[in-house]
Amino acid sequence: MSDQYDQDLQRLADAFDLIEPGPAPSRVKAKIYSALMRQQAQTRRLMSLSEVRARGEKLCVFERLVQIAPVGQSVKSLNICRVCGMRALAERFDDPPIYWAGCPYVDLKNS
Ligand SMILES: [Zn+2]
Repeated sequence: MSDQYDQDLQRLADAFDLIEPGPAPSRVKAKIYSALMRQQAQTRRLMSLSEVRARGEKLCVFERLVQIAPVGQSVKSLNICRVCGMRALAERFDDPPIYWAGCPYVDLKNS
């Protein structure tokens, strides 16, 4: 390899040394969560909100509203938190001003 290649590689390695190890920023975790949920919804039906509750998981306030609303089962299997408003805040801020219990985006903020 050339000296230039070695120098570039060393600079790259030095740059990574400057990155503090630790948990990923909350907004990065939120974007990854959104992408994983979107991908999962494209390949299979998500669990319904009732199934989520039956597993002992919490629902956020919007999920609870949809769970009791007179809508079809297909709506109850959507990722409601994708549109509940918390996603947009969570994907943009590392400490988003959201505190609703049960919302996965709040849980990501606190993890
Ligand atoms: Zn939510």
